[in-house]
Amino acid sequence: MTSPFEEAKRQVDSAADKLGISKPMRARLKKPDLFYSFWVRIRLDNRRRAKFMGFRSQYNNALGPYKGGIRFHPDETAETIRALSAWMTWKCSLTGLPLGGAKGGIICDPSKLSESELERLSKAYSKKITKIIGPWKDIPAPDVYTNSQTMAWMLEEYESVIKTSAPGAFTGKPVELGGHAGRHESTGKGVVITTREALKRLRLKPRQTSAIIQGFGNVGQFAAKYYEELGIKVIGYSDSSGAIFNSKGIKFKEVLAHKKKEGKLATMTGVKHMSNDSLLTQKCDILAPCALEGIITRKNAFEIKAKIIAEGANGPTTVDADKILFKRGILVIPDILCNAGGVIGSYFEWSMNNTGEYWTLNKYNKNLDSVLTKSFDKIYKLYEKEKNIDFRETAYMIAVKRVADAMRLRGRQ
Ligand code: NAD
Repeated sequence: MTSPFEEAKRQVDSAADKLGISKPMRARLKKPDLFYSFWVRIRLDNRRRAKFMGFRSQYNNALGPYKGGIRFHPDETAETIRALSAWMTWKCSLTGLPLGGAKGGIICDPSKLSESELERLSKAYSKKITKIIGPWKDIPAPDVYTNSQTMAWMLEEYESVIKTSAPGAFTGKPVELGGHAGRHESTGKGVVITTREALKRLRLKPRQTSAIIQGFGNVGQFAAKYYEELGIKVIGYSDSSGAIFNSKGIKFKEVLAHKKKEGKLATMTGVKHMSNDSLLTQKCDILAPCALEGIITRKNAFEIKAKIIAEGANGPTTVDADKILFKRGILVIPDILCNAGGVIGSYFEWSMNNTGEYWTLNKYNKNLDSVLTKSFDKIYKLYEKEKNIDFRETAYMIAVKRVADAMRLRGRQ
């Protein structure tokens, strides 16, 4: 299988071909401006010293400061971080934000670290990247296995090094530290808003549809909650422990209560258990991958039975799988639109931190809905006009063009 970054580059090439982008510009659009890798050293609770590999990839800032989350994951790689930073660039561009793209991460298993070890690791990482981040340089946020607490620790370290208060240096913070109550839910909510728009275009009624959600973390949980609120029946869930299924529907509240109590879905009773892979190919209308990249490939793309794939996760579908899904008439809502609710919410938070004007939750959610609905509409109009181009390629044409135009205006060729 090709690496996520190879996949990311193929996506740019495909858009660049259609847009007639020059070779030198294309080369610039296919590499990060800066890729920083470093050791993060901490003291463990048992007083031993440990070191972890950390990364920060600043992909492109032609549209504004670099922006992107930080992941803690045992299987993290430099190539994945590069790909994620590219996808952030296209996501911000597609949704019209004045932000560029970045991503960071640490190779570590947070489940094996204590709370105080995680605090030291977050602070040590923040110290390492202090020089290259800031409200007008690069603004990190939470991602897989990091959360608002991680951001609070990182902000504390950053501000203590620069000796200035700078809440706009991180987003996804706790509300007490300048975060916004809407941010936590905004990625999952965005998955549901974009799915709602896709259902309208396919003339499907939410109450007559079913969904399967892979991944039960920040994105998957709120996608499930708001799918149910919209009237969609959620019939399958999974987390890293396994998958659960019931064609009659499984109530979100029950799944959440079980996950909170037991920490894993695999032990839930009264449901059918199966492997994570077989959950993806069960009959449903909406399949929402909300875990990690590279899970829909040419190996399982022929078996997918959903009418819509809502990419809550970043990069869950490979380029080869995309081609198969398009031929089979399955509408893929690409990650750079489907999960953009997170960065749109982060942009709202950052703007509020910079202006000091804070919005109500109602205003926040209304604006989130409006940005995503308009972005969806813009892509769909072009998608209907351009025959033989899938929904992702259409989104990339819009996203890549906006960045390339900004690069040209700056004389960066
Ligand atoms: P999270 O750490 O909160 O949750 C990840 C979930 O995926 C966990 O439930 C984990 O058990 C599950 N998981 C891991 N491997 C799995 C597997 N093989 N099969 C099934 N489930 C598996 O992470 P998150 O923040 O929800 O992020 C999920 C995805 O969404 C990532 O691709 C991330 O980059 C993307 N994303 C997150 C945000 C955000 O705001 N958090 C924004 C945009 C995109």
